[in-house]
Amino acid sequence: SQEKKSILITGGAGFIGSNFVHHWCNNYPDDHVIVLDALTYAGNRQNLAGLEDRQNFKFIQGDICDRLLIDKLLTEENITNIAHFAAESHVDRSILGPDAFIQTNVIGTFTLLESFRHYWNEQGKPENYRFLHVSTDEVYGSLEADDPAFSETTPYAPNSPYSASKAGSDHLARAYFHTYNVPTIITNCSNNYGPYHFPEKLIPLMCINILLGKPLPVYGDGQNIRDWLYVGDHCSALETVINKGKPGETYNIGGNNEVKNIDLVTLLCDLMDELAPDLPVKPAKELITFVKDRPGHDRRYAIDATKIKTELGWTPQETVENGLRKTIQWYLNNRDWWQPLLSKDYQEYYQKVYG
Ligand code: NAD
Repeated sequence: SQEKKSILITGGAGFIGSNFVHHWCNNYPDDHVIVLDALTYAGNRQNLAGLEDRQNFKFIQGDICDRLLIDKLLTEENITNIAHFAAESHVDRSILGPDAFIQTNVIGTFTLLESFRHYWNEQGKPENYRFLHVSTDEVYGSLEADDPAFSETTPYAPNSPYSASKAGSDHLARAYFHTYNVPTIITNCSNNYGPYHFPEKLIPLMCINILLGKPLPVYGDGQNIRDWLYVGDHCSALETVINKGKPGETYNIGGNNEVKNIDLVTLLCDLMDELAPDLPVKPAKELITFVKDRPGHDRRYAIDATKIKTELGWTPQETVENGLRKTIQWYLNNRDWWQPLLSKDYQEYYQKVYG
């Protein structure tokens, strides 16, 4: 794991991808790091500020569906590892328009796998190369209150176009190992939160609306349960999997932090009351408004992360409260980052989802 790597990070200008780029550059300053990102609405060069001057860092704007570009890039940059984050990632957008989800998540992942397969063969099938496919726990579907948490052997049962497209890409990554021996590894992680999280997602949406004194839309009865993981913990898990994970394996990643949506929003409100000066509405929880439920809304997700803990020795560091404090502080200190993202396009999207 100490040998020098040349790592291609797809989707590295997005939320988790950019956190991972910073994580990798800090921990492995000698590695060659190449980011490939199409810069969709969710991608942002600002997320990589401070890295662009680094000697062995390169940003390439491009699409993972572009086979010629990928073929060229793998060869020219002597790639040894791919960490594949690029995706359409937002469930509500997948309900409004699934096309881009099938294109990027299924066709894009297939294109990367196929290009990597040929490249890896031409290199003489090096044993140390890895293709890490970063995925979600949503592929497992929804749990009832007393069901056991998702493990690596839970059957796939995706319920949204987003999770179905991720399930399709997971199956392809799995098949490339079993059919062609390509050293793929899959990780399925629970809901992340932290810095650089696009405003449409639950936690940044609530932080920003509290700062603006706008209603806090909570779907349905607010009793849906999510298992939250601080993004820095996800990055350390992915690092562990790249260094120690076994090709052909799947690892579930989670922090054992199941919280009901309404409890999460209430905790956020209390922390904002404490941390943010001069809120327009205080206490912030007066802004909570229940809205019509998301169609097909999964009731509960929970991850059993025993395998990555026992086999690879990874454990998460943050509690939900501490992770939320850090996240809130980041949004308070980085208004210049999120204010421009609340553009006209974003407002139109917001109207469609929350009315
Ligand atoms: P994000 O939407 O913030 O970022 C996605 C990035 O991919 C953006 O920078 C975007 O420009 C880029 N991209 C989109 N289409 C592309 C294409 N065709 N070619 C190249 N780049 C393209 O997403 P995220 O929340 O950072 O999620 C990253 C990955 O992690 C996704 O694969 C997602 O399924 C997975 N995941 C996310 C979570 C979560 O809680 N956010 C949890 C588990 C797994």
